Amino acid sequence: QWIFSNGKFVTKQEAVISVYDHGFLYGDGVFEGIRVYDGNIFKLTEHLKRLYESAQSIMLEIPYSKEDFQQIIVDTVRKNQLESGYIRVVVSRGPGNLGLDPSRCSAPHVIVIAEELALFPKELYELGLTVASVASRRNRPDVLSPQIKSLNYLNNILVKLEANQAGAHEALMLNDQGYVTEGSADNIFIVKNNTIITPPVYLGALEGITRNAIIDLAKECGYEMKETPFTRHDVYVADEVFLTGTAAEVIAVVEVDKRMISDGKPGKVTNHLLSEFRKVVTTDGIQ
Ligand code: PLP
Repeated sequence: QWIFSNGKFVTKQEAVISVYDHGFLYGDGVFEGIRVYDGNIFKLTEHLKRLYESAQSIMLEIPYSKEDFQQIIVDTVRKNQLESGYIRVVVSRGPGNLGLDPSRCSAPHVIVIAEELALFPKELYELGLTVASVASRRNRPDVLSPQIKSLNYLNNILVKLEANQAGAHEALMLNDQGYVTEGSADNIFIVKNNTIITPPVYLGALEGITRNAIIDLAKECGYEMKETPFTRHDVYVADEVFLTGTAAEVIAVVEVDKRMISDGKPGKVTNHLLSEFRKVVTTDGIQ
């Protein structure tokens, strides 16, 4: 396996970062997770756009043009002969000193890893996930924007821990007003009377690329699609609940805070959108 690390392809053993890297010391950096399906790098343009926007927001200058970075990602996939799998792109602030000041960091460290993906087990796609709402809240967008896909995922890790402790597969994160935002690394959708609803991102959710793809597909399929705030109650009484994300794709939720959703099985709309999603993943992207 070849890993792109600061301009070179190196082996797994050689792919190391400095202990002074502020990505390691402070979570100072940005990243993307991207899927490749049958040689098609799904929504690569959108992922690169989000990466550069995250970097712009934290004043981190990526040392490549978008075009060059795209080529680096394509080359990494090709070099690993990866037909289908997962790509992790990381740009950390780079090595500095023990102080916080990013201006002391010499240059960003850019890493691209492309490898096979350990998915949720297949049966979970057939059975659906259990979800628990957690006490930790999504950080307020006016304090730290959820649109910055930074290396600091402590908020998300804390909610994952809470969900695990509650015996659930995934967490349901609320914002400080109690509105539903998203999962630990997935967006949430509910279906009620054939209308599909997802929270507006201003409540405190990442504008997921899978989320946007599903919104587009839902509209193309003729569903009514709304972005409006909702609470846990709306989730409990929904006809269907599902999560979306690069790693999870589209996955049904069948239990939330021990309430069974409908008949406790993945719903029709969820299954329909998943099959539509599977059709576009091999074509919509960069070959
Ligand atoms: N929400 C968070 C916090 C995430 O980290 C992710 C994963 O990237 C998502 C949602 C889903 O976004 P996407 O569909 O772009 O992978």
